[in-house]
Amino acid sequence: MFGMFRREERLGTGEVLGRLMHLLSQQETSKYCPHCDKQVVALRPGTSRGRQLVLTCLTLGLWGIAWAVDAFRRPGWRCRDCDARLG
Ligand SMILES: [Zn+2]
Repeated sequence: MFGMFRREERLGTGEVLGRLMHLLSQQETSKYCPHCDKQVVALRPGTSRGRQLVLTCLTLGLWGIAWAVDAFRRPGWRCRDCDARLG
């Protein structure tokens, strides 16, 4: 994790912003949804601890609250179509 930050310090501002945008985006994968009865795109928000820690620092701790609430309310993969929880 710390090695990653050291590398990013040498990148240009545009590259850092691009990386941040990528880190902020949700994770996606393909999963079977029993509710939709097909393979769907599953989304999983806020699962990277490094990303959450960066956001918590950037927002002076506010994100930590949102992180805890989000982790509690949406703990795993969810169907993008019907928002059902997937295994
Ligand atoms: Zn579904």
